[in-house]
Amino acid sequence: MPPFKSAIRTIHFVSLGCAKNRVDTEVMAGIAVEQGLRIVANPLDAEIIVVNTCGFIRSAKEESIQTLLEMARYRTSGRLRLLVSAGCLSQRYGEELARNMPELSHVFGTSYPDWIARIVDRSAPRVQIGPAGHFLQDIKTPRFIQGKNPSAYLKIADGCSRRCAFCAIPLIRGKAKSRAVGEIRREVEKMAGHGIKEICLVAQDSSAYGRDLNRGIDLVRLLRVLNSTPGITWIRLLYLYPDRVIYRLLEALPDLPKVVPYLDIPIQHASDRMLKEMRRGHHASSLRRLMERIRKQSPQIFLRTTVLVGYPTESESDFKALLDFLAEIEFDHIGAFRYSREEGTRSYAREPRVPPAVSYSRLRKIMALGRRISKRRNKMLNGKTVDVLVEGAADDDGFVLFGRHQGQAPEVDGVTYIVSSSAQFGDTIRARVIKSDAFDLVVEPI
Ligand code: SF4
Repeated sequence: MPPFKSAIRTIHFVSLGCAKNRVDTEVMAGIAVEQGLRIVANPLDAEIIVVNTCGFIRSAKEESIQTLLEMARYRTSGRLRLLVSAGCLSQRYGEELARNMPELSHVFGTSYPDWIARIVDRSAPRVQIGPAGHFLQDIKTPRFIQGKNPSAYLKIADGCSRRCAFCAIPLIRGKAKSRAVGEIRREVEKMAGHGIKEICLVAQDSSAYGRDLNRGIDLVRLLRVLNSTPGITWIRLLYLYPDRVIYRLLEALPDLPKVVPYLDIPIQHASDRMLKEMRRGHHASSLRRLMERIRKQSPQIFLRTTVLVGYPTESESDFKALLDFLAEIEFDHIGAFRYSREEGTRSYAREPRVPPAVSYSRLRKIMALGRRISKRRNKMLNGKTVDVLVEGAADDDGFVLFGRHQGQAPEVDGVTYIVSSSAQFGDTIRARVIKSDAFDLVVEPI
C-alpha cells in the first residue's frame, strides 16, 4: 500500500458479541489513544474503523460480516481509509475473510491487540492471526472506557479449558489463563479512581479462575481481596460454570458484602442425556443440588442462567426436562440460544440434527417461560426495599432517573426507574419497589 499523504488521526470501534469482547475493544481503544489517535463516536468521522467481531455461533458470524460490509460503505460516504476486522471471527476464519473480503485493509486475530501501533506506522501485515489464547492483558495494558458509566467489566481470565461438545470458544481463545490477583486488584483500584462503582467480573469460565496459577488461588480468594478495595460498591459475578467452587462461594458470601447477591450460572441443559451428550461433566441431580443450596441459603440471591436448545438428538422429553427444571428452580433471568453447528467442535458430526422449525419453537417456549417467571419474581419484589445504582437521567415521562438494582446485570437484564430523587450519577440509593413487569422495576427512594 502506498504511504498516506497525511497522518491518520481518527478511529472508530464497533464491539460485537459478549462483555469479554467489550473489554478487548476497550483495550484496543486504549492502545489507539496511546498512539495518539482520537476515538470518534460517529463512523462518518473515522479514518480507521475497527470491528471487533464475534465468531461463537452462526448468527453472531453473520452479524459480524454484515457489520463489516456496512462499515465498508464509509469509504465513499465518510472518511474511511482503513477497515479492520479484529477479534473472534478473524481468529477463526482470518485467511478466508482476507481472501473473500477485499473491503478489509487488515485482519487481526485475538492474539496481538498491539497491531494498532503497527497500523499507524504502516508496518502491520494485512493478516495476522497467531495462536489462540496468546494474549492476556496485564496492568500495563491501556484501556479506554467510552462514555460515562458507573459500571465496568473486568476480565479476570481468558480462554476455557473445558471441552463442552458444542462450543468453539476453546478453539478461538485457547486454554484458560488467569490474571494475577494483585494485578486485578490494581485494575479495580484504578477503576475506582475513575469513578467506577460496580465491577462485573467476566471470563469465559469465571469458576475456573486461578486453577492454572497453581498457587491455591481460586475465585473465592480473589473476591476476598477485591471486597476490601475502597471506592467500589458492588462486585458482580458473571459466567460461572456450575461446579464446586460455587459451594465455597456460598459459604464465603456473608463475609463479602460488596459481592452482590446475583449469580449468573449458564447451565445449558438439565436433561441427563443432553448433559452427557454436551460433555458438561455433571448430572441434572448435581445441578439441582446446587440450585437448591443457593435457594436455601438465601432466597435473596438472584439467579440468571443461559440454556441451549436444539442440540443434536435433543428429544421432546429432553426438552421437557429442561423446561421443568427452569420452572422448578425459578431462575430470575433466563437467556437461551439455538444450537449452531460449528466446525472443529465435537458435536459437529452428531446426528440426527434437530430441524430448525423445532429448535425455533423450543426457543420461543423457553423465552415465554422465562418472561412468565421473571414477571412473577419481579412481582414478589413489590413493596420490598432494594439498593439501586443510579446510572443516569431517565428518558421516560414520569421518571427522573434510572439505574439497576442488585438483581439486574448491565445490558442483559432490565433496568430500574426512579420516580423522584436528588441522587447523583453513581450513587447507590435505598428504594421501595412500587411497580414491576417482566423486565423492569419502578421504585421510589426511601
Ligand atoms: S465452559 Fe463455556 S466457554 Fe468453556 S467450553 Fe463450555 S460452554 Fe464453552
